Amino acid sequence: MIHRNTLLPIALLLTAPALLQAQRAPIQIAADLSDAPRKLYHAEIEIPVTPGPVTLTTPKWIPGNHRPTGPVDDITGVVFTVNGKVLPWRRDDEDLYQFHVTIPAGVTTLHAHIDCIVTARISQKLAVLEWEKLLLYPAHTPVKEIPVQPSVKVPEGWGIGTALTPTDGYDPQNPKGGTTHYAATTVEQLEDSPVITGEYFHEFPLAPEVTPRHYIDVVADSPEDSQLRPALLVELSNLVRETGAAYNSRHYNVYHFLLTLSDVAGGEGLEHGQSSDNGVGEKGFSDPNHQLAESDLLSHEFTHSWNGKYRRPFNLYQDTFAKMQEGSLLWVYEGMTQYLGNVLAARSGLKSQDQYRDMLAMSAANLDYKPGRDWRSTEDTAIAASILRGGNPAWANWKRGQDYYQEGELFWLDADTTIRKLTDNKKSLTDFLHIFLAKGGNTGPLIVTYNRDELIADLNQVVKYDWATFMHDRIDAINPHADLAGIEQGGYKLVFTDKPTKSERTIAMSGGRRGGIDVWYSIGIRVNGEGNITDVRWNGPADKAKLFPGQKIIAVNGNVFSGDALKEAIKDAKGKAEPIHFVLQSDTFVTNADIDYHDGERYPSLVRVDGTSDYLDDITKPLTTPEKSPAEKKDNEPAD
Ligand SMILES: [Zn+2]
Repeated sequence: MIHRNTLLPIALLLTAPALLQAQRAPIQIAADLSDAPRKLYHAEIEIPVTPGPVTLTTPKWIPGNHRPTGPVDDITGVVFTVNGKVLPWRRDDEDLYQFHVTIPAGVTTLHAHIDCIVTARISQKLAVLEWEKLLLYPAHTPVKEIPVQPSVKVPEGWGIGTALTPTDGYDPQNPKGGTTHYAATTVEQLEDSPVITGEYFHEFPLAPEVTPRHYIDVVADSPEDSQLRPALLVELSNLVRETGAAYNSRHYNVYHFLLTLSDVAGGEGLEHGQSSDNGVGEKGFSDPNHQLAESDLLSHEFTHSWNGKYRRPFNLYQDTFAKMQEGSLLWVYEGMTQYLGNVLAARSGLKSQDQYRDMLAMSAANLDYKPGRDWRSTEDTAIAASILRGGNPAWANWKRGQDYYQEGELFWLDADTTIRKLTDNKKSLTDFLHIFLAKGGNTGPLIVTYNRDELIADLNQVVKYDWATFMHDRIDAINPHADLAGIEQGGYKLVFTDKPTKSERTIAMSGGRRGGIDVWYSIGIRVNGEGNITDVRWNGPADKAKLFPGQKIIAVNGNVFSGDALKEAIKDAKGKAEPIHFVLQSDTFVTNADIDYHDGERYPSLVRVDGTSDYLDDITKPLTTPEKSPAEKKDNEPAD
């Protein structure tokens, strides 16, 4: 385990993998993605062994997923051979990720063949390889001590994007498909180095004056989508420069944003030290309005290279992928990244300052109207992270979800504005980041763990304050209301008005992942365009009328359901005594319900409080001189 806050071990660790590689022959892994259009991956693996019993394993706890998501159930066709002869194996009775074999006398290399049935991040035209799908290596050995040398075979003509170092002259500007060989690394680093491949592939360099080098690699389902807009490339180059100013260090030898644009390959945002695996819909970045819903994705995942990958909570890091990764500090790992991802998106021009505030309002309102906060702390959402991800939306507001992301965002905004207030805006969270994220200076990919005491000590280096109590009150305690202090210290106030912000309307029109009919702050239901209710706000007007998730609205006030009919009924009921009448279907039953709600439509936004310090707009100003992005035509522009 790597310990925090000690410079000497950092220096030693930098050289450790190289020494070990020199001492031990690497595993040779030949990944074969040539069957990707049929959603099958294969691998031939040569594992150095000594005679006697050997236990091999595939990864279970996947870094960044914070869950035991290793796809062992999809790994199939496992055959071990020595010198061409099949060797029997037996799965471990308790750890189902492990395979036991006995190596005969005189044998030094074990051959393994495995296939993986791939269910996500794949289409007819592109594929993503996260290495847990094909890795097999000795169990019970720290993964940073196991050398491995990969190669990747892809269909004819397909391009490859990865942070791995090619050793046979792969040219991303002229991809030919076939096999590419990569320099030896460790199992820990290979697991952290995904590969994207596709027929429609482009690699674009970013911020060419910055070292180390940065690229964005794109694969798409159609050729026109893989040509990114010049404005987006300018904004991403600004992002690269902004991270230099904000984090004052880099912890990679090269950085690749890996981006898939596909309506079938699925959404993704998975951080790695030297790359990130990002997946959005086919049109996710096709114009500034579509981009808005995804505007913090790339800045968030990139920020993780510092906050999460380089600096890792002590209990989230394990030396093998077999051990549980504990989540109690995810409000730092994810929460501070959520804050910085949005702030740096605004500083880089990926969204405007207005859009930043509109989206902060949506996020803060969502947390403030989350009744589950009456029983569950933010810290508990982090500790329970591995059982909260991807949960059922029914009563999610009472259960709470992975709220440590957005709660953490408000916490770090509160911390940033508190530092500014205490120092008359002479210092900010940037001073903390220069200490916390840049400890050890520039490094290659490396993991340096931390605990809460180090956070408190580093904050105290910026400005003396009772940071321990500050954290305890906001993170560990039960708080019936969201931490809106950062917004207020930033010179703004969360309010509700009868018209959605322009950003909320833009996202709804672009059909982004956050779109929908927003009646959450009025009658208190989440409902889609077909009338299906996915959640009912605990103690809200619809809850009092006994509506429940899973019902479908058939009619409202005598009209067949539509989003407009619902909004019209809410508007009409304002200030009147008559309740809103609903006809609801649940399974094969139809019922009536009346919602007694008379306050009209309510949508969150931030308004400026005159005469207060405008820290919020200081925070979202660029730290570097931004390159201007070219003016563009916007589709789906909502009317003012
Ligand atoms: Zn994240």
